Amino acid sequence: MKGKELLEKAIKMDQHDELASFRDEFYIREKQIYLDGNSLGLLSKRAEKETIKALNSWKEYGIDGWTEGDNPWFTLSESLGEKSAPLIGAYKDEVIVTGSITTNLHQMIASFYHPDDSKNEILADELNFPSDLYAIQSQLELKGYDPQVYLKKIPSEDNQTILLDRIKSSISEKTALILLPSVLYRSGQLLPIKEIVEYAHQFSAVVGFDLAHSIGAVPHNLHKWNVDFAVWCNYKYVNSGPGGTGGLFVHQRHHGKMPGLKGWFGSAKDKQFDMEHSFSPAADAGAYQIGTPHILSSAPLIGSLSIFEEAGIHRLRKKSLQQTDYLLQLIDTLLADHHFKIVTPLKHTERGGHIALEHSAAASICKALKDQMIIPDFRSPNLIRLAPAPLYTTFEELFYSMLELEKIMETKAYEQYQNSRNIIA
Ligand SMILES: *Cc1c(COP(=O)(O)O)cnc(C)c1O
Repeated sequence: MKGKELLEKAIKMDQHDELASFRDEFYIREKQIYLDGNSLGLLSKRAEKETIKALNSWKEYGIDGWTEGDNPWFTLSESLGEKSAPLIGAYKDEVIVTGSITTNLHQMIASFYHPDDSKNEILADELNFPSDLYAIQSQLELKGYDPQVYLKKIPSEDNQTILLDRIKSSISEKTALILLPSVLYRSGQLLPIKEIVEYAHQFSAVVGFDLAHSIGAVPHNLHKWNVDFAVWCNYKYVNSGPGGTGGLFVHQRHHGKMPGLKGWFGSAKDKQFDMEHSFSPAADAGAYQIGTPHILSSAPLIGSLSIFEEAGIHRLRKKSLQQTDYLLQLIDTLLADHHFKIVTPLKHTERGGHIALEHSAAASICKALKDQMIIPDFRSPNLIRLAPAPLYTTFEELFYSMLELEKIMETKAYEQYQNSRNIIA
């Protein structure tokens, strides 16, 4: 297929896109093509409205905002948990909106890692996100286990993906806890969550997932798949804004236990203000909250989740796959001569929401794209991530962004930029 036919294909796909109307709900800079919704999703008008409403509740009610207004703050984390549940395939009492990925991981590991002489290893993968590994390291240290010895990392054959067989062969009777990403943040590989959990449970290992790069992009069935716990942020595909409050999932079969890190907002709601010195945890996932919820960082999520409820995660996934398929076709056609290596798995069942390209000049190419109002995402040392957000990216935008990239490569315009990362990359 040539350039003109590819453009016609894009126009046709946009015309038949049943989710097209959601684009108008987002603030998109004029002439900009935003392909970085996997790092920070864009602001929607609904998220903006809910944030202003939260400020107005504070203005109007003062302290009584905890119980008054449309979204009383005292139960906001629980009600947002309920609204998040369909995105991850959970019961409402299994989900709470709280913390950030890293703080929630600290809580989950503190709660689920109970090492003894024979079962004490934590298993992650060698491509895992640094902050997740830092949390594991400190939790091991707190329990007196040297991370150099007790943190095992599943090796990657190609430095981009992790094979299921490798995961399986790394699990043993010594494995106490496993933490893996649902979608790898660099390559975009989607791991077979159900198979991993089934296998790991034969060894009585607790299995948790970091859903940072799958929530809002890929449907999940965490309850049915028997996942023990999960954590995520909402500022990526879920568009809840910078520092937006994250979330966690704890499977019902673990409810009623004492959380590893106690805090008064994890109390049973009716007991919290008894101010007793002995802690009575909530009977559900709410028990894993720690301090006062970040209301102003949670408010945008009220608006965001109402968009997801209307759009439906299965329709979003369908469009996301069509968009990444189309992007792959554009890359194959327009960029064949320019030494890009696609590192994202091609099978739908193994792919998250973004496409990752390796190139030795990746940093300078990203800078050149940004100067042309196309916003990709760079990961050191040589990776370009391109994320179509099915709520607001059009097929035509994908066409023009790759056409621009072709031009940048043909004219070697990228060579005018330093091939090194900026502070935020
Ligand atoms: C984005 C991301 C994080 C960020 O963690 P925060 O605590 O929310 O800052 C952690 N892990 C992964 C895999 C991520 O993609």
